[in-house]
Formats: sequence, structure tokens, C-alpha cells
Amino acid sequence: MLHTIAAFDRLGEENAFAVLARATALASQGRDIVNLGIGQPDFPTPPHIVDAAVKALRDGHHGYTPATGVLPLREAVARDLHRRFSVDVSPERVMILPGGKVTMFMAILMFGEPGIEILYPDPGFPIYRSMIEFTGATPIPVPIREANGFAFSAQETLSLITPRTRLLILNSPANPTGGVTPKAEIDALVAGLERHPDVPVMSDEIYASMTYDGEAHVSLLSYPSIRERLIHLDGASKSYAMTGWRLGWSVWPQKLYDFARKLAVNAHSCVNAATQWAGIAALDGPQDCVTKMVAEFDKRRHVVLDGLNRLPGVSCIKPKGAFYAFPNISRSGWKAKPLASALLEEAGVAVIGGPDFGVHGEGYLRLSYANSTENILRAIERMGEFLARRKAA
Ligand code: PLP
Repeated sequence: MLHTIAAFDRLGEENAFAVLARATALASQGRDIVNLGIGQPDFPTPPHIVDAAVKALRDGHHGYTPATGVLPLREAVARDLHRRFSVDVSPERVMILPGGKVTMFMAILMFGEPGIEILYPDPGFPIYRSMIEFTGATPIPVPIREANGFAFSAQETLSLITPRTRLLILNSPANPTGGVTPKAEIDALVAGLERHPDVPVMSDEIYASMTYDGEAHVSLLSYPSIRERLIHLDGASKSYAMTGWRLGWSVWPQKLYDFARKLAVNAHSCVNAATQWAGIAALDGPQDCVTKMVAEFDKRRHVVLDGLNRLPGVSCIKPKGAFYAFPNISRSGWKAKPLASALLEEAGVAVIGGPDFGVHGEGYLRLSYANSTENILRAIERMGEFLARRKAA
């Protein structure tokens, strides 16, 4: 008999991986599946980044690095933050981690314990709630509403803060909605946070490079009043099409940096050395690879939006960032999860049901448009045929 801790009964996961596994299994049985389920760019990593990793291996970067990451990469992150947001960040506060996820894992571990509350976006990235529950803390969902353009509301967020609040998690541009919170709303939130000086913030900005219609990303790093309680999460997975490399980074308040370093020493020692050198090439190299990829996502965004709004019982507001559309399917008569499952099994289209991102996701599906225009059009056509012929289960 293995006596594991009860907390594992509360640990969740990401259903997107289960959908990917099912879609792959169906495809291997010969089924033609269009996969709009998984959230990763369908582009290869730009060649100059791959070349830098190969060179690093040939140059002998085979050993451990400092747990916090090699200094040239931490410096490159600081330069990149300055270039994009005109903020000054010391490389001594930058931590290199194996993916964006590890920052949230560490931050939630640092603050979560029974009796305290952690605020997180709902619908939102499922790992937030999963990790909060694992620690025994009480997850407090901050509803992300379609009526608000899928931006978070400063007023509603602030109204949920109590004396037990130990951490506030924010995410813009957002998964799964594609929502981008406008600067005025972020200004209002930060102003309100001045009344709550003990509430730290973890800002997940992994989609920062993916905003559309000329809207510039507003980083929480630009607000000096919360800098000493801000954990800024970013990484290479989405912006440089590097999901499989496992490269993320974050900026920590001085007080927390050493805790993060110790967690890294205990968990993974350091990020793969060659990957770190690839990260330097990504951040210091030409950025047109990012611009081109985002321009392509922008084109597909219009295709997916137009297609979804033609489907019976479906409506979709314009996503402003990331590469997700979050259509409202409540008028179709279907609940989201049975619809997602029937679309995969019967129509060969992989999408994710909104409730996989939290209770406020009911009535919605998430479609990732990190797929070719041709596949997006095929998926929309199949969804249209399916909704026309099949009554809700
Ligand atoms: N944060 C959000 C909002 C995400 O959607 C994802 C990945 O889907 C991550 C973080 C994690 O990224 P990574 O693959 O670098 O761990």
C-alpha cells in the first residue's frame, strides 16, 4: 500500500493534453482529425535559434549551469524587457525556468496553504486552480466575462480581496478567451491595489507578443508601486514557437528570488544548457520571426471569427490577443463538454470545452487558431454540418 498525501486527490491537470492524446489516437486509427485543441504555434522554431542550440552543444555547453540560469540569458531577458516595455529590471531578479508553467508552480507553492485565499481568472489556465487546490489554499475565481470583452474587471477583482487573500493571479492576453485587458482597467486595478499592500500579484504575460489591431501590450512591470510584490511570468514557448524546448523566465521581488532559486535547486537544478543559449539567440536576434508569426495568426483570427459567427447557435467576439477564439455556444442547445466531445468523436474536430478552464467557461468552446487557414476552414465547415444535423445530447 502506498500512502501518498491527500493533496493529490485535489491536483488537476490540463484537459488539452487529454484531447490531444485522444485526437492522436483517432488519427492513428485512420480518422481525419483537425486539431484546434492544443495551444501551441504550428510554426517551427526559427532556424537561427535552432542553430544557436546546436552551436552551444558543439561548443561544449554540456554541464550544469547556475540554478537561476546563465548570466548572458538573464541579461538578455532584462534587455528584452527594456526594449519592449521600457522597464529596468536587474538580471539578478531574473530566473530562467523550464517553461512558463514552472513560475506559476513556484509562486503558488510559496503562498498557498490552508486557510488562505488565492484569486485567479475563471475561465483561465487550468493549472492555476489545480495548484491552488493542491496547496490546500482556497481558490477564489475572478469571473472573466464576455460582456467585458473577456478583460478582467478591476472593480470586481478588488471586491474579491479579503484579509485572507495571499496572491492575485492575472493573465492578459488571456488563455482561453483571447481577451486583452485595456490599460485603463489595469491602471484602476493597480491604483486599487495600493489599498492592499500585502497582496502580491503574479502576472502571466506569456502571450505578451501576441496582441492585434495595433494594441500594445501593457506589462504589470510598468507599475513601480507594485514592483516589489510582482512576479512577472513569461517564456519562449509561444512567442518563439518553442513549446517543446521548455524555456521560461520570470522576474521576482527580491524577497522571493532566493526561494525560487532554492525550489529550482530542489526540483530541476537548471534548464538544459543548450536551450538557454538558444534563448539568448531568440531574445537578442532579429524579431521579424515573431512579427511574421503574429501577422499570420492575425489573418487566421479573422478567418476563424468570420466562420464561427456563421454557425447556427454560435457567436464569437473578436479575440484581441493570444491565438484562441472563445465562441459562445449557449444558443446551440448544447452544453460545452458534450459538444466538444461529440465534435471530436463524430465530426473529427478537436476543440476544448469551456468548463475545462473553470465554471465560468460553461457555454463556450476554446478553439486554437494556431493551425493552417485551410484546416480552420475545414473545421468550421465540419462544425457547421454537425450543428445542422445533430441535436444536443
Ligand atoms: N500560461 C498560460 C496562460 C498558458 O496558456 C501556458 C501554456 O499554454 C503557459 C502559461 C505555460 O507555458 P509553458 O509551455 O512555457 O510552460
